Amino acid sequence: MKYVSTRNKGLCVDFTTALQTGLCPQGGLYVPQVYPQFELTGFKSDQTFSAFAKKLLAPFLNEDPLSAHISEICDQAFNFPVPIISYGSVPVLELFHGPTSSFKDIGARFLAECVQRTPRSTAGRKTVLVATSGDTGSAVAGAFFQKQDTDVMVLFPKGKISSRQEKQITGWGHNVMAISVEGTFDDCQALVKKALNDVEVKKQRLFISANSINIGRLLPQMISYSKISNEHFLKTKEKTGFIIPSGNLGHSMAAIWARHCGFPISDIVLATNANSALSSYLQTGQWLPKPTLATLANAMDVGSPSNIERLFDLYSYEEIKKFISSYSCDDEQIQKEIVSVFKETGKFICPHTATAFYARKQVSEKVNWVIVSTAHPAKFETVVEPLVQEKIKVPSVIQKFLDEKNHRSSICKSDYSIFKKILLA
Ligand SMILES: *Cc1c(COP(=O)(O)O)cnc(C)c1O
Repeated sequence: MKYVSTRNKGLCVDFTTALQTGLCPQGGLYVPQVYPQFELTGFKSDQTFSAFAKKLLAPFLNEDPLSAHISEICDQAFNFPVPIISYGSVPVLELFHGPTSSFKDIGARFLAECVQRTPRSTAGRKTVLVATSGDTGSAVAGAFFQKQDTDVMVLFPKGKISSRQEKQITGWGHNVMAISVEGTFDDCQALVKKALNDVEVKKQRLFISANSINIGRLLPQMISYSKISNEHFLKTKEKTGFIIPSGNLGHSMAAIWARHCGFPISDIVLATNANSALSSYLQTGQWLPKPTLATLANAMDVGSPSNIERLFDLYSYEEIKKFISSYSCDDEQIQKEIVSVFKETGKFICPHTATAFYARKQVSEKVNWVIVSTAHPAKFETVVEPLVQEKIKVPSVIQKFLDEKNHRSSICKSDYSIFKKILLA
């Protein structure tokens, strides 16, 4: 399997190269050159997540040196439950039972297990760089924590992420360095981009970008959609529709790829917060990225989702309209959903998941919908608890960071020359 650029089909690289470079050299995102088509009955319905993952991902790593390690990679990466739980009558796919309590653990852990098994750079160590608006940083830090010959640098905007999110980034130590940038998420991302394009820096170390456009994070996100739709279909001959809280569109893109590879997925709903570029596009056919708005569902605060390039690479507007829809909701609607789900089912939901519950009310009842829940509500207790007037039980993986006495971060101005000194130190 080769990977080509969305902007240049002549640029063709293997999986390891796509993984290590993240973004294509002239801009553009890597996409599979061909999409494998799967035989549904080839997947037994009682398989574990990891066993299913091996079978699904094997063709995507075909002919790459990493394919020899796929079994270990999947066993190490996917060692936590991914259950479907009924919230009242609504089936909810809970993707937040990993080590940092957001769905980003799935992609980040697969990426880390792959990177660990790629050849070393001449300089000896690999440095993973990631800018975060909250959940990505902790998932990537956790995934690469104590991995041999690898350092992780997580840049987050000082004072702009939740206290629990910050503790989950700054509490690791060892090979994880947290950098608190005096600026916005966009400033953090700009520093990372500059470093990845800096020839002098690249001479000294192998830098790897762990942002969500990395193919190594996107492919494993296909697993849950493929597995659930397949199991449901083998039992009932009925397809599944997914309602997915969306920001940069990585997760939804993975669902769209799963469908493209032949899995029995009917409709896909992109649920967003007030950042409404996607729902405007679906209504008008015009793609107009917008400035980012800050909302209660902060991990989805993206005005211009970069993965849209992968969607446009695959389908025309007419084709997209046939199975994709999108609904945007504001903070007030998010709060209302958190309250009503709690009243009706006794379940706490995070603000991101609330956008999917909102979208569920806008769509046809004829589809067998599954709502995707992307983060544990205890990560966003400052939003959820005052609304429902009740305390959320904190999972042990989060409690560990609240109990940790030693939280470390370096403060850095949003200035590349200063960041570069830290980087090369
Ligand atoms: C990152 C994130 C999202 C958005 O995922 P994308 O792949 O960027 O669309 C939704 N919810 C939570 C909790 C997240 O951390």
